[in-house]
Amino acid sequence: MQQKQRTTVDILKALDKSNCKECGSPTCLAFAALVIQGKKTLRECPHLSEEAIQALGGDGVGKKGKDDDTRDEQFERLMEEFSGVDFEEAAERIGATVHGGRLGISCLGKIFELDRQGNLYSGCHVNLWVHGPLLDYATHSAGRQLTGDWVPFGDLEQAKDWARFFSHRCEQGMKQIVDDDPDFFFDALSIFSPTPVGQKTGKPFSSADHVTVVYPMPKVPLMIAYWCADAEFESKLTLFFDRSAEVNLGAESIYALVRGMVEMFTRIFSTHGLD
Ligand code: SF4
Repeated sequence: MQQKQRTTVDILKALDKSNCKECGSPTCLAFAALVIQGKKTLRECPHLSEEAIQALGGDGVGKKGKDDDTRDEQFERLMEEFSGVDFEEAAERIGATVHGGRLGISCLGKIFELDRQGNLYSGCHVNLWVHGPLLDYATHSAGRQLTGDWVPFGDLEQAKDWARFFSHRCEQGMKQIVDDDPDFFFDALSIFSPTPVGQKTGKPFSSADHVTVVYPMPKVPLMIAYWCADAEFESKLTLFFDRSAEVNLGAESIYALVRGMVEMFTRIFSTHGLD
């Protein structure tokens, strides 16, 4: 079905019009015009919700820009590199399985399968954000043992370029979901992880009201630490990674993966419920 042609005004209406410049454009209007010209993508505005992006036709709105081409090229390169992966070797290295000629990787407790061409299969709704990180994980992960040293995303080497985006879209995005009902959110997370880590540990997150570990990839655990609001402070959410995350999955793929999780949690917690 042909997508409705969008205009600069359509894009502008969806923006918050704060002219905050975080997208690198001087105003929201300038940003909207650049999106239509294909020189910017909607996701470069950190204040635009996933729902708004989808309502505008996704990130493909506007002409294809250099960034899109770069992303496409990166994805194609990943697919090509993945075609050379030895499934048996990879399964051992990254904690996956081989079944029926496909590499099965557990992502948040669900098995996602990749065939030899890199196509993705899953019994649940396939989240496209997961596809690139899975290919990257299978192809490039060092499969290093966990160190037990939990660090925030920004402390990972090579994460510096992504830290601001990660804070906005991943930590703030997840915090907004959790803020609605923290007890319910963390109870519900047991669907994705049987490994609650509620005990006090003496680490920076030991004062958190909720601490849970989930496994977006077998060797890339993610610790979600949440501090409830009180009379003095707003609520806070920080995501911690094992120090090995930077060799088990690159910073860009970690960012994409957690973005995908936030998108998925938004859908589950706000639309369908958990049944
Ligand atoms: S980041 Fe978003 S809200 Fe801020 S100026 Fe750019 S388009 Fe407008």
